[in-house]
This record gives sequence, structure tokens and C-alpha cells, in this order.
Amino acid sequence: MAVIKIMDELLANKIAAGEVVEKCASVVKELVENSIDAKSTEIKVELEDAGTRQIKVIDNGKGMDKDDAILAFSRHATSKIKDEDDLYRLTTLGFRGEALASIAAVSKVDLKTCNGDIGTHVIINGGEIKEVGLGDARKGTTITVSELFYNTPARLKHMKSLYTELANITDYINKLALSKPNIRFTLKNNDNIILRTDGSGNTLKVIQSIYGTDVARKMVPIKGENPDYEISGYISLPEVHRSSRNNMVTIVNGRVVRNIDINRIINDAYHSYKPDNRYPITVINIEVDPSIIDVNIHPTKMDIKFSKMDTLLELISLTIKAAITDRNLIPEVSIRKEKPKKEELRFDLERHTNVPKIEEIPFQEPEIPVNESIFEDENNGDIVHEVVMDEENYQIKEEKKEFMPEMYPVGLVHGTYIIAQNEKGMYIIDQHAAKERCNYEKFKKAMGNPNIASTDLLFPITLEFSTDEFIILKENINILENLKFKIEPFGINSIIVKSHPTWLPKGNEEQTIRKIIEIILTTKKDFSIEKFNEKVATMMSCKKAIKANTNITLEEMEALITDLRNCKNPFNCPHGRPTIIYYSNYDLEKLFKRSGFDTIK
Ligand code: ZN
Ligand code: ZN
Repeated sequence: MAVIKIMDELLANKIAAGEVVEKCASVVKELVENSIDAKSTEIKVELEDAGTRQIKVIDNGKGMDKDDAILAFSRHATSKIKDEDDLYRLTTLGFRGEALASIAAVSKVDLKTCNGDIGTHVIINGGEIKEVGLGDARKGTTITVSELFYNTPARLKHMKSLYTELANITDYINKLALSKPNIRFTLKNNDNIILRTDGSGNTLKVIQSIYGTDVARKMVPIKGENPDYEISGYISLPEVHRSSRNNMVTIVNGRVVRNIDINRIINDAYHSYKPDNRYPITVINIEVDPSIIDVNIHPTKMDIKFSKMDTLLELISLTIKAAITDRNLIPEVSIRKEKPKKEELRFDLERHTNVPKIEEIPFQEPEIPVNESIFEDENNGDIVHEVVMDEENYQIKEEKKEFMPEMYPVGLVHGTYIIAQNEKGMYIIDQHAAKERCNYEKFKKAMGNPNIASTDLLFPITLEFSTDEFIILKENINILENLKFKIEPFGINSIIVKSHPTWLPKGNEEQTIRKIIEIILTTKKDFSIEKFNEKVATMMSCKKAIKANTNITLEEMEALITDLRNCKNPFNCPHGRPTIIYYSNYDLEKLFKRSGFDTIK
């Protein structure tokens, strides 16, 4: 029986999209999505020269009969969309049915497929069916697309550099594998295995296959729910961050989507735990009733809107914060030799413009079956920070514990780094960063207190501004008044500050007030009191912190360490730098080659 139906013209036009075959990645995407729709549990993607020579997709799905196999390449054929309503459930590329025909028109296609009975073999060149015959009886489909654009003069124009093509395809398959941990994926390029997952359904194993064991060890499981959403997944510890947002993967009901608001809220949740311009690695699954999402079908990307966006963002934010605030985050100095990471391997392809052939670069084969021990690591699998929100309130299960261990200072290096120890090993604390963190938490607390007292200035401070600055300042004067500053206009474009809140550091009042006003003037757009308080607290915490190259006494060091241990996040300064690093006794022994062959006497 033919599964594929001819769509009606209207529907075809509705989903028709211009750029059907633009990149190799689009072809891979189309073929692989067909394999997924065919209920495959194993999908192999084999590329030659990043797909520019050949793309082969082998699956073990339900396959097609002879009629379907031929029909699959005709325009407007599709097995997935039967009526317009299906469009709203359609979560793949918006041009299904068109795509295979378009791909076949500009390449050589070899299709072997079998639905369990008789195998079919179809050969198509430039859109023309050349041969239809019997094929293997192996259930599933093997489709080979070669010489993409061989019959169009604009061939080269379509192809980006091989490296870009390969990077796009890898990115796509990585994310797909994260969203479908039950499918066993293999991605190969010229015999180099780029990705191999085991199809066991374990997302952490997929993360390990993509990012390696070191990253997988530093992923924290998360879980949270409210009446509309259920979220789960893995997020990296704050010490793991990348320069690109691309490693923040959001999956809605099993499909990878992109949403800037979600990415922003994830990154904000890490604020002050890592530098703001670096991004975590996250895989967040969102389960939601499909009726409250609105999928915007676009041929190249998947955007999604939620009708109850606010509660979703709040849930994500609280869940991430619960997972990262409640643990020991001191990065341990790793003295193991790091294996080269995939992303650091460079493809030197630009020189091979005429004959695109990827140089053989030995890819590190992902270790599969993976080392099970990381899945039982005490840092990892055991604590799931579950956030449960009902209509009115939310609670974070689990009690708050102290995660920064006790330690005792033994000295100071360069007036900058405190050396401390306990029975487990040695710690190095950046005294400026540590002090900054302590100040920051004090300032934030003080600024959030509505009953904070104010002090009159003995000599009121007069500040002058340009006209446009003065206008902005006048409009926002209530922000300063809420912080217990007493301010009055004074002549042309000037103000006079008569009193200030008691938390303002003594000594440099004028300079600090100027800085605070500068924050108002430079964040006209997108101003929020929360962000303002944040910036003011960060700025003042730095000003008030001990400068580097200041010698402090052992007692002062002890007091600082105690203060730091009482912080909500003792592990980072408000700018996201680490305050403390750790060498275990074992690491020290290894560094001095004491362990193993040379016993300590
Ligand atoms: Zn600083
Ligand atoms: Zn800092």
C-alpha cells in the first residue's frame, strides 16, 4: 500500500519555500528526518568531503514499497502532511515533499529501500528516473545523493567552504542526537567518525559523545515543573563555558527549537557565576501541551512561541539557579593531559579549491561503550535539584548546605593570592575577587532593604550634566530616591545631592554617586531596577575590595575566608571570575611525582 499521498495544491503552496536545497546540511536534514519519520532506531550518515561529493544515509526504518519509492521523488508528494491541520503539528522543515524532488533534480540519487517484503532500487539522475529494479531485502532505506549541483552552472556558488559545510552538518546531527537519545546515530566524514551515540536513551551519554568525558562529568541534571510545563535535562557547571551560544540546546516535545528568550534566561541564571560574555552548555527538554505553543514554520530554522512564556522562563530560571547555587563549585585543577578537542581540529581546506578533498585528520573516536563510572559520580548523578511550582508559590526541594569547605590560611603570595589548606589539599584564593564577592552580597542585601537609613552629607555635592543627560536623569530621579538619595535640581542642568544611603562607601562619595548616575544614563533602553541594582553593587564591590598587592595579616585572611564561606555563591566574583581554586593532595603528589613509583618517606 502506498503510504505517500499527493498533497493538494493549496497545501503545497503554503509550505513551499524558496531555498530548498541550499547547503549540504539541508540535504542531510531532509534525508535524516525522513529516516526518523520512518521510525528508524539506527541512522548512519556517511559523507564524502563534507557531503559535497556524496551524502549517504542508511536507516533501519520501515522502508517503502516500489510505488512509494518512485512517488517519493515527484513534486508535492508527502507521507507526513494530509491536511492543513497537520501543518500546526508539523515540526520539521516546512517543505516536506518538495525537498526530495528538488534534491533529485540537482544530483544523482541512488535509493535502495525495503519495507520487509521485496526490495526496490531506484536510480535518478538530474531528476530523471533512470532505473527501477529489485533491491536488497534488508528492511530500511539507504539513500545516496552524490555530485550535488553537478548539472547546474552555479555549483560552486552554492557550496560554502568544506569546513563550514561539515560544521553545519555536525551541529545539526549533534543536536538531533541530543533530542533523540533513543536513536543510535553515526556521523562519518571520509572514514573519520565524528559522532557515534549508543541509542540507549541516556542524554548524558550523548553529551559525552559530543563534548567528551571531562564536560560530561561537569554536567548537572535538572528537573522542574509548573502547571503548564515540565522541564528536565543537563546544564554545565559554571566553570564550563564556551564563546558561542550554540551549545545551549532547547528541545520542546522532542524537537530542537531556537528561542532567544529562553537562551537569555538561561544565561541570566548563571549571572555572576561565569563571565557574561561566555555561555554554558545546556540541554533542556521542555514538555508542554502542544496547544499552547505556536510553531513558526520557516524552512531554515525552528522558532517557537509559547502562550505562557513568563511562567516558562521563571521555571527555567529557578531550576537552573537551584542546580548551580547548591554545590561546591571550586574548580579542581586538572593535571591530566587533555586530549585534543574536536572543535580545535582545523581543516585546512581553503587551499584545495579545485579538488575539494578533506585532509585526513584522525578524529578521536568517541569511547563507546562509555565509561559508566561518570554516571555514578557523586558530583553528578545523585542530586537532582527539583523545582516544583504551583499556582501561588514555588519551593526548591532540598535544604541549603554549606558547600565551601573549611580551610586555614597559611600565607599570602604577591599580596594577591591567599594560600590555604585543609586535610584534603591546598586552596588558592584571589583576595580581591573574594572580597569583591563578600562586598557584592552585602551591597545587594542593603540595596534591597526598603528600610535602609540615609546620612546627610556635611557638604552637599553638586553635579553638572549635559542637557540630554539631565533630561534622562530627571525622568529617572525616582530610582535614586528609592535608594534613599536626597537630590534636588540646582541651577541649569545641575543637581545637588544632600544625603545618601548609609551603604555608600565612605570617602569617595562624589565619585561613587557619579558612577551610579552614569549607570542610569548608559542603560536608558531596557532599564530594570534589578539590573541597575546589580550593576551598582558590582561596581561598588570592586571599588571597596582590597586591591592586589596589599599585604594582609593571617587574621584578616581568616576573616575573609569566613566571610566568603558565608556567601550565597562563594566561588565567583560578581564578574564571574573564580575566587578560589583547589589542588587535591593527590594532584600535588602527582605534580611532584610522589604517587606511584616514589613513596613518601
Ligand atoms: Zn574588581
Ligand atoms: Zn571581579
